Amino acid sequence: MRITRVETFAVPPRWLFCRIETDSGLVGWGEPVVEGRAATVRTAVRELAGQFLIGADPLRIEDHWQQMTKGSFYRGGPVLSSAVAGLDQALWDIAGKAYGAPVHQLMGGPVRERARAYCWVGGDEPSDVREQVAAQVAAGFTAVKMNASGRTDRLPTTAALDAVAARAAAAREALGPDGDFAVDFHGRFSVAGAIRALAALEPYAPMFAEEPVLPEYTHLLGRVTEATTVPVATGERLYSRTDVLPALQAGVAVVQPDLSHAGGLSEVRRIASLAETWDVAVAPHCPLGPLALAASLQLAFCTPNFLIQEQSIGIHYNTGAELLDYVVDREVFRFHDGHLLRPTGPGLGVTVDERAVREADSRTADWHNPVWRHPDGSFAEW
Ligand SMILES: [Mg+2]
Repeated sequence: MRITRVETFAVPPRWLFCRIETDSGLVGWGEPVVEGRAATVRTAVRELAGQFLIGADPLRIEDHWQQMTKGSFYRGGPVLSSAVAGLDQALWDIAGKAYGAPVHQLMGGPVRERARAYCWVGGDEPSDVREQVAAQVAAGFTAVKMNASGRTDRLPTTAALDAVAARAAAAREALGPDGDFAVDFHGRFSVAGAIRALAALEPYAPMFAEEPVLPEYTHLLGRVTEATTVPVATGERLYSRTDVLPALQAGVAVVQPDLSHAGGLSEVRRIASLAETWDVAVAPHCPLGPLALAASLQLAFCTPNFLIQEQSIGIHYNTGAELLDYVVDREVFRFHDGHLLRPTGPGLGVTVDERAVREADSRTADWHNPVWRHPDGSFAEW
């Protein structure tokens, strides 16, 4: 079997899919994207495919991964690692179809029968938290995630801290003691500000607090984990085992590699294994599309230290299109009491609606995240 063609499709709301075709008729799909830099990743995919994949045997996944990540003197980072991630997903999809098995079966077989998922509430500037959490509880979810704050000073005021605590209290009240909520800091506070905000959250026992500091301050993250009882999570902006290691050394409780950013199934599988040696759980980041979620689920079902899965259905970023718009078999992504069931189809376990994807590619505008400003006009973290 040889790879004959690699195509990419930019689709709303902000995703990029790749399709690897072989001379056997088998086709694999993946999702190589960095939110806000889809066009840049698209170029990287085209370059990597032309240099390493066209004409090659798709079943030599590890060798392709080694070449694609190390075959250029300059390596790593979000763009290249995400391009590799999507291509790696598509190669695993082909392998599963070639061997007639879901990817998690090829990676050791299932270790659970269902995967817990959470949904987002509250938006970029969180509001109406109580109502939105109650609605998700009514829909069967047992866990939600929200932003800790909206646009904020790096050192939060007393009023800002009170608002962080009030939203946490509202979420806890709507969930009761058996439910879980997580808070995403988005790196909006300084290290000192994050420590204060975590203290405000402690009485409400969040499941974890995500990116309390920006990934470029991972060398300071140990101060944060030492200062709080809230489990600290990070990892959506880390792209390899070597990127994740300093976060583990800093004492995080949860790592959140993204199957579409951190080198695909091949590397995230290894990140999960590395995390296991630090007694750290894995909660894959995934505010993305159906192929990223399908790859995440394949990982969830063969990974003992999997904790919970993010997913984008109904997320505030999804305007104009939803994850389900691009798949034929929507049952794979149906929630059962806040859980997704083990996919049994070969490869990634989803059937892409190819006509919908090709049509969407012709009408996609570039998506970029907002650029925020403080009231004094200076740059603010989004
Ligand atoms: Mg996040």
